Parts: sequence; structure tokens; C-alpha cells
Amino acid sequence: MPILKIFSRYVYDSRGNPTVEVDVTTETGLYRAIVPSGASTGVHEALELRDKEKAWGGKGVLKAVKNVNEVIAPALIASAIDIKDQKAVDKFMIDLDGTPNKSVLGANAILGVSLAVAKAAAGEKKVPLYVHIADLAGSKNPVVLPVPFLNVLNGGSHAGGRLAIQEFMIAPTGASSFAEAMIMGSEVYHILKKLAKDRYGQSAGNVGDEGGVAPDIQTPQEALDLISDAIEQAGYTGKIKIALDSASSEFYKDGKYDMDFKNPESDPSKWLTGKELAELYLDLVKKYPIVSLEDPFAEDDWDAWVHFYSATDAQIVGDDLTVTNPARIKTAIEKKAANALLLKVNQIGTLTESIQAALDSFAAGWGVMVSHRSGETEDSTIADIVVGLQSGEIKTGAPARSERLAKLNQLLRIEEELGDKAIYAGDKFRVSVTL
Ligand code: PEP
Ligand code: MG
Repeated sequence: MPILKIFSRYVYDSRGNPTVEVDVTTETGLYRAIVPSGASTGVHEALELRDKEKAWGGKGVLKAVKNVNEVIAPALIASAIDIKDQKAVDKFMIDLDGTPNKSVLGANAILGVSLAVAKAAAGEKKVPLYVHIADLAGSKNPVVLPVPFLNVLNGGSHAGGRLAIQEFMIAPTGASSFAEAMIMGSEVYHILKKLAKDRYGQSAGNVGDEGGVAPDIQTPQEALDLISDAIEQAGYTGKIKIALDSASSEFYKDGKYDMDFKNPESDPSKWLTGKELAELYLDLVKKYPIVSLEDPFAEDDWDAWVHFYSATDAQIVGDDLTVTNPARIKTAIEKKAANALLLKVNQIGTLTESIQAALDSFAAGWGVMVSHRSGETEDSTIADIVVGLQSGEIKTGAPARSERLAKLNQLLRIEEELGDKAIYAGDKFRVSVTL
């Protein structure tokens, strides 16, 4: 079925910044995608085209929108490529751009079209989006609902306060369904908010960019004690695990890690080496039920990653390290630097390359955690991606704020639609593809 029209406009994301929206119209209807945007972005990500002009503090996306409307739309429509052939559509746009990091058209322009085309193809096939994505990925059993890694306490570049580690997530692995996992997560979230206020004052209940509480605490131990207490009060000790995203590229300075990086007067003599930071993580893993650590080290500090890999059985997730890029993933597999991929579609810029990144990771025995960005919208495509890939783990913020709930609510709907066929990944989240 041909594309009748492709139209892009800008809309606003959860931080109030403009972002690219794309509508693809076919005979079966209008299909829409909105592109997310990160704050703690990796230097190796595909290029997010921003106008860098006075309007919106340099963050305008008028050039990216124009690239969709004036370059991609006419060329893709004229090509008459079958929209069900996502590989061909994405290759066409990659070639049209002609650069390795999509710096001519912008990964935000290309991704908007890529995702809207996938939705249009699902519409043409009259199947849910996750079924179409499963077809594209060759998934065996796309009925697995992921463990939601709920980011209940925000730090780093996503919050005020002094905490260096960006994300403290709870993972209800002991639930029997996704819906039950959300009940458990929601209960703990509300208890945590009350505990944070009781312990650190009313303002500790304020939230960061991803909806988690953001008390002005300094150490990861304070955050983990608060979360462990909330889990215990809710009665879920043992059934809810914990995960971290250090986003440590944000506080890597002169070859060391500055755990006080938001303090302009931070003392360089206290900055940690990669080995010292690894020791800190190993202590935390011993004391708390931590099952996953993301970006524990900076994006090019390969030696620290390799050292840590052999020291723990926990999931070690590459985000800035691997940037959903098959070439960086290959290097990380070869070096034994990580054992899981954080999959962010806008880090690479097409659905096809994102699927390839997941397949390469699965082939190496890695886990794949599908992820939102800190700047999000009502678009819920990643919920369908995580089920379509059968990857068993998703992080999309706290169980609060509608740009986060858009994805979690879509997963509730998918679980309901699958009925008896649905399987909750639970404690098998790292090997979900084998279920
Ligand atoms: C992350 O680092 O995993 C994240 C979601 O943050 P951002 O989108 O700011 O990169
Ligand atoms: Mg991250």
C-alpha cells in the first residue's frame, strides 16, 4: 500500500522542549510517532538535529521538521517502497542522509518517519504494532510482558540535589503478571514519597525528570536505604529487586569519577578511580538486592568496564557505552565489557537498526532493556517494541507522570489483549528471549 502523505510538525516534550512529530497517511488511516530526547546523552549517539538559533534556547527542531517535509517525504513517497518492508524504508533514508551518524537529515527526522511507517504497516496488516515488530525481528514468542524497571528516585543530570547516580529503579521480578508488577511498584512509589518527606522534609517529595522523588541526599547508600525501607514497608522484600543507572559519563573528569559533580567546589582529591568505583558498586551489590547496573563507567573507559565484568554476576547494561549501535555493541561483546544492551531507538535513528542491535545482543547471550529517554512524550511505541522483541525488560521512568505511564499503560493493554497467552518475564528478564 503506498504512502499518501508524510507530514511533520514540532510538538513539545516532557521537559518543554520542541521535538519532531511525524504523521504518515495511507489508505487505512493516519499513523503518528513522536521522537524522544535525552539529557545525559552519549557522545557516540546519532545526531539529534537542533537549530542552534535563538528561539527555544537553541533547541528548535525546525530544520529537522523541514528535512522530513521537504527531503524525506517527497523522496520516500516517490520511491514507492512497500511500507511493510521496514528494512528497505530505513535503508532508503540512511542512504538519503549519507552519513554514519545521520548528521545531514538528523536522527530525529529519520526516526520519526521510521516509527510512523512501522505503525502504518501494522495498520495495513491489521495487526497490533507489537505483532508487526515481532515479524520484523523474527521473534519466536512475542507474548512476554517485561519487568518494568521503575525509576523511583532521580539524581544525576535528571534532578537537583547532590546525588551523582542518576537512577534508582525498582524491579518487581516476583510479580506474577505485569499488572501485578505495576500494583507493587505503585504502592512502593507512594510509600517512598512519604518516607522521603518524613526523613528529608517536604521538598524531598518533589520529582525529577522521570517522575522519581529527588531528595537532596549525597550518597547512594542513603537512596538505597530509603528504597529498601519502602519495599519492606510495602511487604515486598525479596519480590522487588533494585537497579541502578549511574550515567557515569556525566561525572567522569580527567580519568576519575566525581561523585560530587554538581558541586562547583567539588574536591578533586576525593574523585574515584575506576577500580575504586567498582569497589563501591560491589559493596552496594553485597548489601542491597541490586540485579542490574547501567553505565557504571564512562562511555570510553573500557578498561574499567572489563575489570568490573569479571567481578560480578549482576546485569551490566551498556547505554552511553553502546548507544544502540551494532558496531559499538560488537566491540563490547568482544571485549567482555557488558552483558546487556540498553535499547534507545533515537540513539541510532531507525527501527531496523534498533532491531538489529537487539538481535546482535541476544545472539551474544546479552539481556536487552528497552528504554525511554528523559525527555519523553505521549508516544508509547517502545511498549510495543519490548513485547515485539520479547526482550523482557523495560525502563520508562517512575509509575507517575503521563509521559512515563503512556508506555506502562500500553503494556497493561497488551497484557489484557494477550489474556491467557501472556507470560510475565519475572526473574527470567535477562533470558526472556528463551521463554
Ligand atoms: C538514561 O541515561 O538511561 C536516560 C534515560 O537518560 P537520558 O535520556 O537523559 O539519556
Ligand atoms: Mg542510562
